[in-house]
Amino acid sequence: MYDFAIIGGGIVGLSTGMMLGKKYPHARILVLEKESQWAFHQTGNNSGVIHSGVYYKPGSFKAKFCRDGANSMVQFCQEHGIDYEVCGKVIVATKEAELPRLENLYQRGLDNGIPVKRISAEEVKEYEPHVSSVGGIFVKTTGIVNYKQVCCKYAETIQTQGGELRLNTKVLRIISTSDRQIIETNNGEFATKFVINCAGLFSDRIAKLAGVNPQAKIVPFRGEYYELIPEKRYLVKGLIYPVPNPAFPFLGVHFTRMIDGSVHAGPNAVLSLKREGYTKTDFDLRDFAEVMTYPGFWKLAAKHADEGIKEIIRSFSKAAFVRSLQQLIPEVTAADVIPTHAGVRAQALMENGALVDDFLIIHTENAVHVCNAPSPAATSSLEIGKAIVAEIPQPTSVRTVSV
Ligand SMILES: Cc1cc2nc3c(=O)[nH]c(=O)nc-3n(C[C@H](O)[C@H](O)[C@H](O)COP(=O)(O)OP(=O)(O)OC[C@H]3O[C@@H](n4cnc5c(N)ncnc54)[C@H](O)[C@@H]3O)c2cc1C
Repeated sequence: MYDFAIIGGGIVGLSTGMMLGKKYPHARILVLEKESQWAFHQTGNNSGVIHSGVYYKPGSFKAKFCRDGANSMVQFCQEHGIDYEVCGKVIVATKEAELPRLENLYQRGLDNGIPVKRISAEEVKEYEPHVSSVGGIFVKTTGIVNYKQVCCKYAETIQTQGGELRLNTKVLRIISTSDRQIIETNNGEFATKFVINCAGLFSDRIAKLAGVNPQAKIVPFRGEYYELIPEKRYLVKGLIYPVPNPAFPFLGVHFTRMIDGSVHAGPNAVLSLKREGYTKTDFDLRDFAEVMTYPGFWKLAAKHADEGIKEIIRSFSKAAFVRSLQQLIPEVTAADVIPTHAGVRAQALMENGALVDDFLIIHTENAVHVCNAPSPAATSSLEIGKAIVAEIPQPTSVRTVSV
């Protein structure tokens, strides 16, 4: 019998496992992951940015966990010899009309306690010589890292603490009895006192298996990236972001220098026809039918039809994608970029058509369900893990140490 079973070996599940092991060194902890490696889905296909916390509504979990998480992520990388760089980023307005939104973002950064600096178009060029803008802000605490490497270190730590890790183990059913929960998988059954659901793109379905209705459905939004060819990497020194549309939780296509030196451009945001659909032709009937029959999706689509159509065009047309990039760096051409990986975001959507903006963590007597952990959850992972563990009742017969 395990004290805790965590479903999902992405960055949230592994961080939570590590924090549990720190707080309860004598507890029996199990992590179940259906893939053959850690961080195979959202965590392993993201932009690799350590966000500073500028964007998020003051007082939200995102704002707090991101600001604190950026610090703890840097500290974790230092302690464990993981490559990272706090390179800073520019967020730029490319038209006069974007300046009021840039100013709002600057104020929000200040409200969130982030060291943001207003910069003129000339000063933007000092940071990023190839960017064309009418002004920007510079955020010095933003960084880059490879979150797959971070996850491997979290997993290694869980193992050192005595936790058990099971790859290739897909959770199929959860049966609750008065004193335990039986998790049925393709790899046997596991009995546990407490379940922690960190299943990302499948978190709503796992919650339902455990008898919890999260009141929101995961809708998958694919983010496609291009990569600058090596001879053009000089065009980008660090991180270059546009001013985002505040109606969406996505940040707009941006240039990101990755920790391996490559430069990625993207991601866009298109509805994926499969929860783990990384290409345009990936299709799953159940996933697709669930979205199409969900009233929340049609309410969202009605509100944002224009943007949705633009995103689809940008997905199918390299020329349209490059035009978005040229708003930031006019000299980029179609010949300078090649398609690279894609990631699929798990975005919770409510039945009334509202996107769940903040992290959504549901606690029950014998389980925690992380039902919305979009960006910046990778940056915030250590703080999310700590917060989950702080709320979990101490298992009987297990001693605590402070985390
Ligand atoms: C394109 C993109 C760019 C992003 N950029 C950034 C960024 O730069 N910075 C940042 O902070 N955040 C970023 N994010 C967000 C961040 O990557 C995610 O918020 C974070 O990775 C979520 O982690 P997770 O552990 O919840 O989910 P995941 O990483 O998706 O992990 C969930 C795991 O659960 C497993 N699972 C699912 N069902 C089952 C089952 N039945 N049985 C067993 N296992 C199961 C899956 O296989 C998966 O490994 C980005 C996301 C995307 C998609």
